[in-house]
Amino acid sequence: MSRFIKQALVAASAGLLTTLASAQASELNLYSARHYQTDEALYSQFTKATGIKINRVDADDAGILARLKAEGSASPADVILLVDAARLGKGQADGLFRPIKSALLEAAVPAALRAATGPEGVAWFGLSTRARVVVYDKARVKREDVDTYEELAEPKNRGRICLRSGSHPYNLSLFGSMLEHLGQAKMETWLQGLQANLARAPKGGDTDQIRAVASGECAVAISNSYYIARLMRSNQAQDQALMSKVEVVFPNQQSWGTHLNIAGAAVARHSKNPQAAIQFIEYLASPQAQTYFADGNNEWPVVASVRTANPALQAMSGGAFKAETVPVAQVAAHQARVQQMLDRIGFR
Ligand code: FE
Repeated sequence: MSRFIKQALVAASAGLLTTLASAQASELNLYSARHYQTDEALYSQFTKATGIKINRVDADDAGILARLKAEGSASPADVILLVDAARLGKGQADGLFRPIKSALLEAAVPAALRAATGPEGVAWFGLSTRARVVVYDKARVKREDVDTYEELAEPKNRGRICLRSGSHPYNLSLFGSMLEHLGQAKMETWLQGLQANLARAPKGGDTDQIRAVASGECAVAISNSYYIARLMRSNQAQDQALMSKVEVVFPNQQSWGTHLNIAGAAVARHSKNPQAAIQFIEYLASPQAQTYFADGNNEWPVVASVRTANPALQAMSGGAFKAETVPVAQVAAHQARVQQMLDRIGFR
């Protein structure tokens, strides 16, 4: 055999092997808005158990939704991880997800923490929860003046409040919850009161609002619970100093409960591996994964039987708190209406 033919045969069989391997290869492309190192260990456990490799693409939530739209049917995405029901609801409304049929997930994830079940399946499932709470300057503010969302709009809190943009999904969801509880007219009055009480024009993220309370620029802020837990667990001296000045309150404990939101998962509309994608999301709802997944970002698991012992979350909430029971999907469905209200009153 000539050297040339030998080489050609070697190359051909190598090519054949590659083809066989890729036909069998189980890989999942994950578009994730979660960028936590703890998630990495979680994915490698899944690979070890199933042989399915996870290729992760990190981007922020808005970036992921834009990318899915731009890629269309050519998208390699299989599983989408996003934070806040407002964003999951947006992806659903834009037709970017493929409905999931999974008895396991429907049993594990409470109905209030996932999209409504249609004949085709469920558009997305929450996998961890976070609370939208109030942080205040304990030297300047009385707890009883800020322990309900309604009071944040009252004249007694004039010039005190710092907030990230009203159009940010975290606030669209909180305001959607207020719309649900108060109704259109009262909600708009509330929003105007809140706007009148702002210490400065909305800017930055939740952590920036907590810092502004500690520095005295404002006295009250609204933040997702995990940002506070992150600062509480920080070993940086400046974070410790910051947290010594502020107090946290879970609003509306005497009425409908504190606004709860989720981080969750969906299967991409054009996934080539929808079964493996569901398998991965089911894995994220398993007890071990739930603990890891939620605790990695200082959140709570969605699976009721799973208990975590996060010291910061324990300390912040006093162990337990009353959360609102309105389905997060219902809250998310209000976002377009809420945005119209924000535009109408010029709330940034
Ligand atoms: Fe966040």
